[in-house]
Amino acid sequence: MRYFVFSDIHGNLEALEAVLEVLNEENDCIPICLGDIVGYGPNPHECIQAIRDRNILSIVGNHDRAAIDEVDISYFNPYAKEAVLWTRSILKDSDTDFLRSLPVVRTFGNMTLVHATPCDPHSWNYLFTLFDAQNNFKCFNTQLCFIGHSHSPIIIVQKHSGECWVHPHTVIGVQHDLRFIVNAGSVGQPRDGNPDAAYMIYDDQEGTIEIHRVAYAMRKTQEKMKRHGLPDYLIERLELGR
Ligand code: ZN
Repeated sequence: MRYFVFSDIHGNLEALEAVLEVLNEENDCIPICLGDIVGYGPNPHECIQAIRDRNILSIVGNHDRAAIDEVDISYFNPYAKEAVLWTRSILKDSDTDFLRSLPVVRTFGNMTLVHATPCDPHSWNYLFTLFDAQNNFKCFNTQLCFIGHSHSPIIIVQKHSGECWVHPHTVIGVQHDLRFIVNAGSVGQPRDGNPDAAYMIYDDQEGTIEIHRVAYAMRKTQEKMKRHGLPDYLIERLELGR
């Protein structure tokens, strides 16, 4: 089976559509969304709708929780806070019911799916370093753990001995004696310097994980954000991929 994994859409419909177009061309892929469907972008309702229409297996992110008022947003930066409040004002009841129904962690085959970190997923911590990864490998039992949240794709590998390293490429073979934490990057607001939407394909027959990028109609997203009066900083960062 092949799994088509993506995360952090953040209400960016054009980016989501570009990714779903790729998904449509892939045969027999099971799509998985790792959370933060909303927040920042101009089309939270439409993005939720697109996920629901395709019955995509999803978990919840901190911005999804913030949009339904179930997470403290006092620690959000002022731009994120403004976007959350705007998102709250336009979501429909059916959207909030859907976000409320999503679990924080899900185990699926040999995969653990969690938006932030497998250790204490409700704290919405970030997993940036090998030290963070080493701790987090202790907090799940499956071979693979797929995460989002930082908006930067990364593949971290662990040997039986516990030794970990960052894989320097976007493609890797899934050897049975290794474990993996993989960040799928972000569809709607990449922060790794590449503004294109990110997604990942895990093929359990071939034993491969590949991170891919696809360009989308960013100007259209930016124009909509401008029209809705969303912060300039959030509009500009899309083209910087930062
Ligand atoms: Zn996010």
